[in-house]
Amino acid sequence: MNAEEFRRSGHQLIDWIADYQNHVEQYPVMSQVSPGKIRAKLPAAPPSHGESFDAILRDVDEIIMPGITHWQSPNFFAFFPSNNSGPSILGELLSAGLGVQGMLWSTSPACTELETHVMDWLVDLMRLPPAFRSTSTGGGVIQESASSAAVCALVAARERATEGRTNRFGADGTLTAYISTQTHSSIEKAVRLVGLGSDNLRLIDVDERFAMRPERLAKAIRDDRAAGRRPCFVCATIGTTSSTAIDPVRRIGEICRAEGLWLHVDGAMGGTAALCPEFQPMFDGLELADSYCFNPHKWMFTNFDCDCFFVADRASLIRALTILPEYLRNKATESGAVIDYRDWQVSLGRRFRSLKLWFVLRCFGVEGLRERIRRHVALAGELAEWIRRDPRFELAAPVTFSLVCFRHRGGDEPTQRLLDALNGSGKIAVSHTRLDGKLTIRFSIGQTNTERRHVEAAWQLIRQFADA
Ligand SMILES: *Cc1c(COP(=O)(O)O)cnc(C)c1O
Repeated sequence: MNAEEFRRSGHQLIDWIADYQNHVEQYPVMSQVSPGKIRAKLPAAPPSHGESFDAILRDVDEIIMPGITHWQSPNFFAFFPSNNSGPSILGELLSAGLGVQGMLWSTSPACTELETHVMDWLVDLMRLPPAFRSTSTGGGVIQESASSAAVCALVAARERATEGRTNRFGADGTLTAYISTQTHSSIEKAVRLVGLGSDNLRLIDVDERFAMRPERLAKAIRDDRAAGRRPCFVCATIGTTSSTAIDPVRRIGEICRAEGLWLHVDGAMGGTAALCPEFQPMFDGLELADSYCFNPHKWMFTNFDCDCFFVADRASLIRALTILPEYLRNKATESGAVIDYRDWQVSLGRRFRSLKLWFVLRCFGVEGLRERIRRHVALAGELAEWIRRDPRFELAAPVTFSLVCFRHRGGDEPTQRLLDALNGSGKIAVSHTRLDGKLTIRFSIGQTNTERRHVEAAWQLIRQFADA
């Protein structure tokens, strides 16, 4: 592909994406293909000689599109959103176009400095603890995911608790970590990855709102100490995956401070709400956290992958992760005047991810972002009210952000039938969880372009299929 072909194909692809955005509501939201259907249409081997971009794009339409679930449909209400927007797509494209590798400040200074700056913007905008600012003791870094952020937080916690000995000698099996029964599975994965082991992870009970019971946490820590173990890490969540429950971060943080444990706060979905001043009280106690993350790739109109990870003391993180081989030595690093983000993450290499976040912040403007978040939260409140008033349904959890959890009062069987009918209709997509042991439908509002009419139509569909 020469420069002129690139220009032509690039324009063609942008047109294709713009048309897709215009027509996304016309597709069945959940892909209806059976396993193996897409692969069966693909040739056994790649072509020996280059093909035209037109031919490739034709196959995208014919082979790929039937296997797409339309996460960018405003009728997508499953899981949590993985939304995008015009500016984020363009930021991603520019990142690919520049193709820089930002492992060190010196390998592309703008890649590091824009990231640091945008992360500091977010601290101010969201009124996050001042220690998370790069100008203080901490700082922010963009990770690929909340899961990766959890791994980094846990390694830092582990090394702080063992004064760097685990990095040298390996884990000794005595460290313990604490989450609630509602915490995302990525934390258990991180516990395995960093060598603590699932058996050393304690699942703390939750209250009737699905929030961690801090007194149970305190007791579990005491019991472990009495048994000769070494508690080192707690993860609290602001907006759990099943029901967007909010753990009592302040009380948990006080326990962590008193006991010398690392507190990581996971705000993967809910975190974006802190853009709005009226939701900032939901983040009470965050200044007691050692680390915190949230995902613009969920609810901040910035396409996957983009997780914002903040630490209060960057030295703990860097000490745990840095190794300086000869081939990476450079004057800027040795001067101590720059950030080398390779020391803040699992991988060495890194893309210019802050471009898309910067584009989003600038194109939407803070008020534009807030307007959408508020709209989604208000729509969730309205839907919850309609559900409350219909005797066939019950709400399964408090509505904190933009997720509505509900079920059929008839129990799991009619709830399952409703779930299948909704997803089978192709008109909307929803997902499920279990709360209090009962099957629950999760209706998550957060796609960039979801408006009242989409939620209204979905509610009509729910009523129609309620007695399916
Ligand atoms: C979605 C989610 C995660 C995982 O997010 P990734 O960025 O995909 O790793 C972690 N925690 C919570 C609370 C989530 O909702």
